[in-house]
Amino acid sequence: MPARAHDHLPAAARLGVLGWPVAHSRSPAMQNAALAELGLSDWRYQLLPVPPEAFAQTVRALGASGLRGANVTIPHKEAALAVATTATDRARAIGAANTLTFGADGAIHADNTDAPGFLAALPAPPAPGGTALVLGAGGSARAVVHALVEAGVDVAVWNRTAARAAALTGDLGGRAVAAARPADLLVNCTAVGLGQASTGFEELPLTADSIGTYATVVDLVYRPGGTPFLDAAQAAGCSVVDALEMLVQQGALSLEAWTGLPAPIRVMRDVVRRDLPIAPHEPRPSPSATRGRTGPSNGGGARP
Ligand code: NAP
Repeated sequence: MPARAHDHLPAAARLGVLGWPVAHSRSPAMQNAALAELGLSDWRYQLLPVPPEAFAQTVRALGASGLRGANVTIPHKEAALAVATTATDRARAIGAANTLTFGADGAIHADNTDAPGFLAALPAPPAPGGTALVLGAGGSARAVVHALVEAGVDVAVWNRTAARAAALTGDLGGRAVAAARPADLLVNCTAVGLGQASTGFEELPLTADSIGTYATVVDLVYRPGGTPFLDAAQAAGCSVVDALEMLVQQGALSLEAWTGLPAPIRVMRDVVRRDLPIAPHEPRPSPSATRGRTGPSNGGGARP
């Protein structure tokens, strides 16, 4: 009888998402559907609400209790890197982790799949020598800037608080700018657009009328019904990528780290987008394919 792809894996395992609050997270539905699709019928992915003051102690205890892996969301991504015993170079460079993998004897390995998940969500890999304008200088901007600089893109970073953009580019590369400038790619990594009352542009250095100069526009903000920022980009004829696509791609990379199996991207996307018909775009292959790994492509790939 031929060995199945997951014969090397335990029959049952626990995964989850650490956040505070975290009840809104789409990751359990997305990851449990993926586990079922992979035939890991006794694996479970659950919400792990943990307040900041209990984070390190709880994470160590969860690892000791046999948790296999966890995604990490607001406000714990920096604390997740701090509690890890080992970390990837990109998590260290970004200064934050969104994926923890637990091993024997208290080992906790940290990675940041927001950065490669962002690249995988783009309609095409960014061309070395291409240009990007990143809005924001918080945690998600750090992951995006790191990914783009590593890909050889000339990155400009604008932030409402200019000193934070200067600090970010000092750490990661790119250059801080005081005003919007033309680029191939525009990425909104600010929280603008989150509230239902937001116009999507109120404190940003560009307007709905000027957004059409960017060929590709990405909005990391998710809001039911779509964001005004991405609506304006779509109306202007830009190629658009929404926050849900990055959610899917970063989650797929985390799942692949915990299982060693190619993530069923299409299933994950279908679950995340169920009843949320916003900003469709051309699917891309599994992120494992973009990393040069072998394995079947599963068809085309917000906050965890
Ligand atoms: P963060 O670290 O708190 O940073 C927030 C950023 O937004 C800062 O640059 C801040 O500028 C800026 N900002 C806030 N209000 C603003 C306003 N009114 N006008 C202009 N700029 C404003 O947050 P984050 O973790 O980077 O997350 C940012 C957004 O991305 C959130 O909506 C989050 O949900 C989303 N996100 C999505 C994914 C995904 O997978 N789709 C992943 C990560 C994050 P100042 O420095 O001036 O305060």
